[in-house]
Amino acid sequence: MTQNELVAALDIGGTKIAGALVDSAGRILVRAQRPTPAREDGDTVMRAVEQVLGELTGSSLWSRVRAVGIGSAGPVDASRGTVSPVNIPGWRGYPLVDRVRGLSGRLPVELIGDGVAITAAEHWQGAAQGYDNALCMVVSTGVGGGLVLGGKLHPGPTGNAGHIGHISVDLDGDPCPCGGRGCVERIASGPNIARRALEQGWQPGPDGDTTTAAVAAAARAGDPVALASFERAAQALAASIAATASLVEIEIAVIGGGVAKAGDVLFTPLRRTLRDYATLSFVQNLTVTPAMTGTDAGLVGAAAAALGSGTRMKAGAPA
Ligand SMILES: [Zn+2]
Repeated sequence: MTQNELVAALDIGGTKIAGALVDSAGRILVRAQRPTPAREDGDTVMRAVEQVLGELTGSSLWSRVRAVGIGSAGPVDASRGTVSPVNIPGWRGYPLVDRVRGLSGRLPVELIGDGVAITAAEHWQGAAQGYDNALCMVVSTGVGGGLVLGGKLHPGPTGNAGHIGHISVDLDGDPCPCGGRGCVERIASGPNIARRALEQGWQPGPDGDTTTAAVAAAARAGDPVALASFERAAQALAASIAATASLVEIEIAVIGGGVAKAGDVLFTPLRRTLRDYATLSFVQNLTVTPAMTGTDAGLVGAAAAALGSGTRMKAGAPA
């Protein structure tokens, strides 16, 4: 990539489809966005992608675009160029890469999962910058993640590597919608933190707010049931982070997503319980830190993937 060249980025999720033109320094120059018609058929969802791409290709800057990066809700299959997002039922094995290539003038298209995209963004511009071995997690409605190994993003053959939300940390635990049992997501996601607090007798305030943010506020105010629900989530995250560190020797675990905004009520028990699980000498110095990239992380990460894949890539582009 030369200074003047750009990439197009698409961030495809269950609520919105965002697009951007991004320069080699990661600056967003043009934006487009549509709500995701997630309950409609696959062609209707694709029309929303076409509208977003249409705004980008209509920009006077489009002639400088050299590649397209897509970060999509998963599972994705980068080897086939298809996506099957759990929360977009109209797309199953959907040939998104072919469609986007057709709409973008046959540019190279790089597809990664959304957890991998956020990892790319954190490694390029966020808390994992400068680390050669990192785990980045997104803890929100679900739990996702991605890995940087040996200084490089590690998407794996199909673009899903680091999908830590669905490793089991409780062998006989609750069934998870993925088909497994005792998954990290089933214990640590926002909706499961709120569900567990309510089941254990937590009472919402006069406004009746039972969101994870309300449970977090109650925990900060010292409510023992709310605190215990965050503690349990933190324990599941700690066990999964320790397991990852033991497997591939990460130096830092970065936690983003809405649940991470709970702050100390999550991070304090997380760092404490990590000491119970990360016991071997080579994992004891692991750093756990909040993510730094914000709502644009998906776009920035998709751009990073496009930059990293480009044959024209020069020093300075994200690896
Ligand atoms: Zn699962």
